[in-house]
Amino acid sequence: MSGSRSPDRVARHIRGLPRSGIRDFFDIVSARAGVISLGIGEPDFVTPWRIRESSIYALDRGATTYTSNRGLPGLRRAIADYIGRAFGVRYDPETEILVTVGVSEALDLALRAVIEPGDEILYHEPCFVSYAPEIVMAHGVPRAVPTSPENGFRLTGALLRKHATPRTKALLVNFPTNPTGATLTAADAREIAAFVKERDLLLITDEIYSELTYAGERASIAAEPGMKERTIFLHGFSKGWAMTGFRLGYACAPPDLSEAMMKIHQYTMMCAPILSQKAAIEALKSPSDTEAMRASYAQRRNFICAELNAMNLPCPTPNGAFYVFPYIGGRGLSSKDFALRLLDEQNVACIPGSAFGPSGEGFLRCSYATDIEAIKEATRRMAAFVQELGKRRR
Ligand code: PMP
Repeated sequence: MSGSRSPDRVARHIRGLPRSGIRDFFDIVSARAGVISLGIGEPDFVTPWRIRESSIYALDRGATTYTSNRGLPGLRRAIADYIGRAFGVRYDPETEILVTVGVSEALDLALRAVIEPGDEILYHEPCFVSYAPEIVMAHGVPRAVPTSPENGFRLTGALLRKHATPRTKALLVNFPTNPTGATLTAADAREIAAFVKERDLLLITDEIYSELTYAGERASIAAEPGMKERTIFLHGFSKGWAMTGFRLGYACAPPDLSEAMMKIHQYTMMCAPILSQKAAIEALKSPSDTEAMRASYAQRRNFICAELNAMNLPCPTPNGAFYVFPYIGGRGLSSKDFALRLLDEQNVACIPGSAFGPSGEGFLRCSYATDIEAIKEATRRMAAFVQELGKRRR
């Protein structure tokens, strides 16, 4: 055969996947010098010392082996206690908790465990860039439910009913939401739970930002009556404990679903890294570091929202995660062009809202998990950019 390669070498459903809009953008950013980035979805804190130290200690003591497939029993017990206390949902560490390589793996397991080819998975949009591709990789059909800024990107029962079909198998939700920072009210949780039960669906809930909720109670739909038995609850240590590099998460689910996910995990990943599991046990011992980080994020959120509103980029104050999602439309530029020109003219990197689905068009995602001095300089440059854009349009 000559040098030409048959396109069939790559499976059709993988060939069709788009590249992540965030990655594309960062390829451009990494080729430039002097950029201030509000683009990265990662805490700017180093993992608290007591957590790092527990990993170092475990390594020093020779913890270099596999663990049980489900994860260290002590970690599973600690997770069960934590979820019981924080969300009021009780999981059995023996049969209902599975420790994974980040929420990323947990989500992949959940989708692969429940999807039959052609099943539809509903999810609210704008959303985390991985959702639609992960559903496709599991041979499912992604069904986005577009949400809108008029009501703070809320997910309502009416919207869900509009987009559900007889092929819908599960609803995937993420509160607080990446990229909008939207959180769930108790009334929303009730309404969404009612919809899921009425249609006899499964719920997959990605709670990765739940510790970063700034006002009011953290609500999870998993805690609604009759929901635990039809919910796969995903959580992890990346955001609330600043442990992205440890790659540690978990899935809590009724025994049949947990066992199905465990099988996939066992044959693909075997177990999550032991040193990360040791660190996670320490992480769950005290809420103090998470509380300090949350207080710092809240200050930065207040600052960046005030600045964006002052430069006429309307930005309601989100109640969760570490992103703001200002409206940048009405200036004759798509969100991608706005972001590219902001980068080109002022060396500030933000992610175009369209990277999170078509309903993110007209918005920009700015992460405030960045040093406050960098945020100050970035907002100063953004204000200059917006002013300049206004002059050119006149
Ligand atoms: N879900 C959401 C909504 C996220 O934003 C992210 C990471 N940015 C993940 C899941 C994946 O997190 P992990 O590091 O636990 O794999």
